[in-house]
Amino acid sequence: MATILVTGGAGYIGSHTVIELVKAGYEPIIFDNFSNAKPAVLARIKQICGRSVPFYAGDIRVYEQLAQVFKNHKIDGVIHFAGLKAVGESVKKPLEYYDVNVNGSRVLLQVMSDFGCKNFIFSSSATVYGEPDAVPLTEDSPVKRANCPYGQTKVDVEYMAQELQIAHPEFSITLLRYFNPVGAHESGLIGEDPRGIPNNLMPYLTQVAVGRLECLSIFGNDYPTPDGTCIRDYIHVVDLAVGHVAALKHCLDNAGVHIYNLGTGNGYSVLDMVKAFSKAIGRELPHKFAPRRAGDVVSCYADPAKAKNELGWVATHTLDDMTRDAYNWQKNNPNGYED
Ligand code: NAD
Ligand code: UDP
Repeated sequence: MATILVTGGAGYIGSHTVIELVKAGYEPIIFDNFSNAKPAVLARIKQICGRSVPFYAGDIRVYEQLAQVFKNHKIDGVIHFAGLKAVGESVKKPLEYYDVNVNGSRVLLQVMSDFGCKNFIFSSSATVYGEPDAVPLTEDSPVKRANCPYGQTKVDVEYMAQELQIAHPEFSITLLRYFNPVGAHESGLIGEDPRGIPNNLMPYLTQVAVGRLECLSIFGNDYPTPDGTCIRDYIHVVDLAVGHVAALKHCLDNAGVHIYNLGTGNGYSVLDMVKAFSKAIGRELPHKFAPRRAGDVVSCYADPAKAKNELGWVATHTLDDMTRDAYNWQKNNPNGYED
């Protein structure tokens, strides 16, 4: 079975994807510098898979460190998760974001090219659509200049990879545009472990639920939506991981550029999420209204039909599954992975 390099494989989405790759019979190899992950995740992956997964400590910006993996193994394809992902931080540290996300991806594509590896799957984001003109978003919806450096790095890497494919048509480039990944593995052994106070809604909710944080501030309740709060397409991280396996099979078999939305097609408001979470924990989750957060789009959800038609993939987990598994992970690991 194919050997797959998973950059950022110790991170939130990467670790769940490694497990689904093993389940599907692939040979993943994790490459990560632990800038936003803990080594403890490797033992948890082993526990879930029943075997260890090869691991390299390294930085995607360092050609030799990546090349070492390609010297030691015949890599059939790469799933590229490694990168920095905090919108607010990217505004403060734009050069670091362009260095890791864009330059790091360039180095990786160079190494792949030099070692004759042509199959590349990239973690893109619905953020490339900016403020949507219309929802649901299809893959043909316009890609816009992003309103923050993080988002722009996703747009830039999408273009860089597509331009490489034009120059070298034997490349198979898959761009996966994630909507809002949430939840955790049902074992409760792996999940999202943000450093510091979470910026994203779901980890904030889970930390309020276990008493690590006091109260959720809902950013804005005067948006033009049915309940005044913003709407997103939350997708269970295991569905997303399974989507990568489906995309990988297609990527390995078909040269070209392939772009897919990975979302459920359902839009939920922030208040819907608070309600679902309150149900999961059996009491009302403390929340209050606060001013809008700069840069938030009003409503963003996917039309996932293309992934269904071409990859045979659909998200199967419900909102209750997402909240249950997120809470289960946080309850079992109130402080995330121990160092
Ligand atoms: P994460 O931070 O948990 O995982 C990223 C991993 O990459 C971490 O383990 C980190 O240590 C590693 N890494 C960072 N810089 C590196 C470097 N220079 N060299 C090697 N490893 C490095 O994030 P995640 O939520 O799992 O996201 C994975 C990818 O998906 C990212 O590219 C992110 O931008 C993208 N994405 C995430 C979301 C989301 O909401 N989580 C949404 C859309 C897209
Ligand atoms: N949100 C919120 N309070 C928080 C974090 C997020 O009200 O503490 C809202 C945010 O304004 C947005 C939604 O929850 O409307 C999802 O935010 P998240 O950062 O998780 O995803 P993104 O906005 O990047 O899609």
